[in-house]
Amino acid sequence: MEDSVQARVATLRKQLNQYAYEYYVEDNPSVPDSEYDRLMQELIALEERHPELVTPDSPTQRVGGEPLEGFKKVTHEIPMLSLADVFNEQELLDFDRRVRRAVGDDVTYVCELKIDGLAVSLTYEKGRFVLGATRGDGTTGEDITNNLRTVRTLPLALPEDIDIEVRGEAYMPKRSFEQLNEERRRNGEVPFANPRNAAAGSLRQLDPKIAAKRRLSVFLYSAGKFDRDKVSTHYGLLEYIRSLSLPVNPESRRCRTMEEVLAYIKEYTEKRDSLAYGIDGIVIKVDSLAQQAQLGHTVKSPRWMIAYKFPAEEVVSSLENIEVRVGRTGVVTPTAVLTPVTVAGTTVKRASLHNEDLIREKDLRIGDRVVIRKAGDIIPEVVNVLTEQRTGEEKAFAMPTHCPECGSTLVRLEEEVALRCINPKCPAQIREGLIHFVSRNAMNIDGLGEKVITQLFDHQLIRDVADLYQLTYDDLISMERMGDKSVRNLLEAIERSKQNSLERLLFGLGIRYIGSKAARILAQSFKTMDRLSEATMEDLQAVDEIGEKMADSLVTYFSKPEVRALIEELKAAGLNMRYLGPDPEEAAESESPFSGKTVVLTGKMQEMSRPQAKREIEQRGGKVTGSVSSKTDIVIAGEAAGSKLKKAQDLQIEIWDEARFLDALKE
Ligand code: NAD
Repeated sequence: MEDSVQARVATLRKQLNQYAYEYYVEDNPSVPDSEYDRLMQELIALEERHPELVTPDSPTQRVGGEPLEGFKKVTHEIPMLSLADVFNEQELLDFDRRVRRAVGDDVTYVCELKIDGLAVSLTYEKGRFVLGATRGDGTTGEDITNNLRTVRTLPLALPEDIDIEVRGEAYMPKRSFEQLNEERRRNGEVPFANPRNAAAGSLRQLDPKIAAKRRLSVFLYSAGKFDRDKVSTHYGLLEYIRSLSLPVNPESRRCRTMEEVLAYIKEYTEKRDSLAYGIDGIVIKVDSLAQQAQLGHTVKSPRWMIAYKFPAEEVVSSLENIEVRVGRTGVVTPTAVLTPVTVAGTTVKRASLHNEDLIREKDLRIGDRVVIRKAGDIIPEVVNVLTEQRTGEEKAFAMPTHCPECGSTLVRLEEEVALRCINPKCPAQIREGLIHFVSRNAMNIDGLGEKVITQLFDHQLIRDVADLYQLTYDDLISMERMGDKSVRNLLEAIERSKQNSLERLLFGLGIRYIGSKAARILAQSFKTMDRLSEATMEDLQAVDEIGEKMADSLVTYFSKPEVRALIEELKAAGLNMRYLGPDPEEAAESESPFSGKTVVLTGKMQEMSRPQAKREIEQRGGKVTGSVSSKTDIVIAGEAAGSKLKKAQDLQIEIWDEARFLDALKE
């Protein structure tokens, strides 16, 4: 065997042991879990290929970390094991196949949420709580009885005088976690990396008063020693534990097929954010206790259960470069160019770094290993640098002093963090302005994306938006990747855009401070481009929601001779210059059930994203706000709606479910 394999195994073990120590003993991890999991998977794969390298002290063979000094040690008569992980559907189906091969086809599973906390064991003697312990290394844990006594949801006495050892997960609810970290930041203390570390750090305090303040909770999901005659299935065990007034998570479900298991995973992947506590996956367990015994366990984990891990939301990547891009308004934005990584299920290659201050604050250097976060639909961001992984080769980054496109000196306007190129002829700004003009919320010209615009611009076929309407078949067909059909479609789309209502053109022109909403209000109020371009400061400010800044920007814009010339050119090309939508007053009087109503959206909808629902309501004359108050007219509650729904019930506000909402949209 090559030395390199042996060396790699040694390196991986050293690294994993170091991370495990930081995580389990110090409750202060230095890398995201995904990084630990990635290295662990690599070690598992190497050890599978070279079984002779497996040693009993390898991190693949060990559970958790050593107990902390200072606590009494507790020996677990029945070891508290870890859980094997799977990261995709295929690996989960492999698990199912292994189970069926061992126990036959008659298998029922129980799906449970994998609560992001730490495992604890609670011993009751004659119904009294006598001992609470951490998992520790699986055999020896720490005695944290006094700390667990402070957890309010745990009964100190059971309704029956029995002896039982129950096991479960101690966790910190999201709200408590946020409050705790806020407090720590205020006091200049380092915030906890995640709720799991916060819960572990709180329960492993020698002073129980600290744990008492931290508002922890527990969900129980199994038992060590108990009267086995009572139950024959895992689900039965959960019900039994619940009957003892112990807290059991209510979301567990029996699944008779793998389709049901996959549906459960899908359902809770979507509900995840709306739960009051963090979960990092789904645990799938064989229901029959007899089958569990038949399957047994490895040194590290039972063979009858598996954890399906959600896609990581924090991942490590390398900062290959920092590029600066000049936007439509001249703002220069640095962007991180990253080694592509999968985060929250999608590939991330770039992340905005916003401005120079942020780069300095995080001390980002080119070549750094960085943590990238992307939760759900949120835009990816660089969280921090793994400074301890620096090799010394990393290069500091300095923002350019001159525009990378036109060479003019960049300036920092008063009270702004951003640097700007203030040359109105800067090609980058013009190009970005063109991209904006054709975009979805502006003129919405299908088939004219960033790539085509850039080509047309580089070939000097377009210099301003009026040139778009002079493009010919021959101009377009000479561009890369443009065939006959796409050119025809594009010409048609350009032609169609001439009929857009005024607000699209107004927004597309990219006038400072005039977003799509302001553009709509202006178009509705002034009806034609001519009237708007003649409007005075007073006329403009008389319109509801148009303030001084916007009015000033409009007057300045329309006073420029080049703007007047541009509008004449667009008119000559046949562009519509009128507002074509319904009159706002007419719209309000129309039959829409949303007109003039204040609406709050909560929970998750199946058919529609939240921004889309908001748009639909606004188009029908309604207003969407973020929080429920006595001024709210309607609350639309999707699945797993939480505190807003409760508040609406308390205030007796009209509550609609998704079906009713969809019906109302059709009206
Ligand atoms: P685990 O978190 O993968 O899973 C086992 C644990 O899941 C159990 O001990 C139990 O506490 C918990 N659990 C939650 N809900 C459960 C349920 N319904 N049923 C059964 N068990 C449930 O195992 P682990 O060995 O404690 O830790 C491994 C995890 O810790 C990995 O996610 C790893 O990334 C992370 N870790 C991270 C670092 C780091 O440096 N970032 C270091 C070490 C470990």
